[in-house]
Amino acid sequence: MTRVILLCLLAVSFICNVSSAPLSTSPNPAVTVHNALLKRAEPGTGDDDFPDTEPHPNKLDQVETAFNDAFELAAYVLNSIDDDIDIFPHYFNGGDRAGVKNVFLAIFGTTSIPENPSTGNDLLANIHVQRKDTEGQCKNGRTLAYMHDGEIKKPTIVLCDNAFKKKAVTALKGADPQKDEDKKWYASCEPLTKNGHVSYLMNTLGATLLHEYLHFDGLVQSVFGAPIIDQDNPKGEPIGYGPVQVYDKLSKDLAPFNADSYTYYALHNLWHVLCQKDFAAPRAGIDDADPDCGKQVCSS
Ligand SMILES: [Zn+2]
Repeated sequence: MTRVILLCLLAVSFICNVSSAPLSTSPNPAVTVHNALLKRAEPGTGDDDFPDTEPHPNKLDQVETAFNDAFELAAYVLNSIDDDIDIFPHYFNGGDRAGVKNVFLAIFGTTSIPENPSTGNDLLANIHVQRKDTEGQCKNGRTLAYMHDGEIKKPTIVLCDNAFKKKAVTALKGADPQKDEDKKWYASCEPLTKNGHVSYLMNTLGATLLHEYLHFDGLVQSVFGAPIIDQDNPKGEPIGYGPVQVYDKLSKDLAPFNADSYTYYALHNLWHVLCQKDFAAPRAGIDDADPDCGKQVCSS
């Protein structure tokens, strides 16, 4: 029961409807780390792209909650990865467990990776987040976000309009999760549990940010010795996007170098804990046909 309460506190505004099933009473280390994180650096946003206007929630509110939700995803992974024999093997080889954990530690800012003496969070503060589609990659209608080096030599995350269709997990300014009219802003267990499979329904704006952080080479490249990219086949077609491609399909040898493998592993883990539900394998053409990306697999 203790753990249920801690988890509810961690997911600050999550509509916590988990049962009081017998759970470990060991302290949840994620809570402590998470609280420390709130005082740390996070990416910056430009006032031009994110004016703090009425009504709330506005896009600035959405992004600020998503910063928190990205760390939340990492926190839940770090809380379970050592003992996870059910979810992890669908995404990665067992032998890569320590490395995958180090990637999440690096994002979380408590990295002890010798090649990367700066903490992950210090590096995240170098990232600029904008809406201006500098490279025109949002125009295809299936892109949530992308990262590039930026005009001022700063790593820059561009959030496309599609990204703002994605929902929040933790508290969002101006949206009360207890009010029926505000529930549309939050991802929740009900549609996920009803669907029963790993799916795009699990995706959130925070997960989109997490995906882009993984492309920030200075942050995570040292863990596996190569950048984390979006994998293509020899014809240049994407093979590493969305739940269907990364769950038991993409070669596990490529998974450590594929951003959505981490993203969907983290999402699957988060919703498994929050909903107390074992999700079945994603179905091609159903669980990856995201209406937020034109009923296609979202790219990012
Ligand atoms: Zn990507």
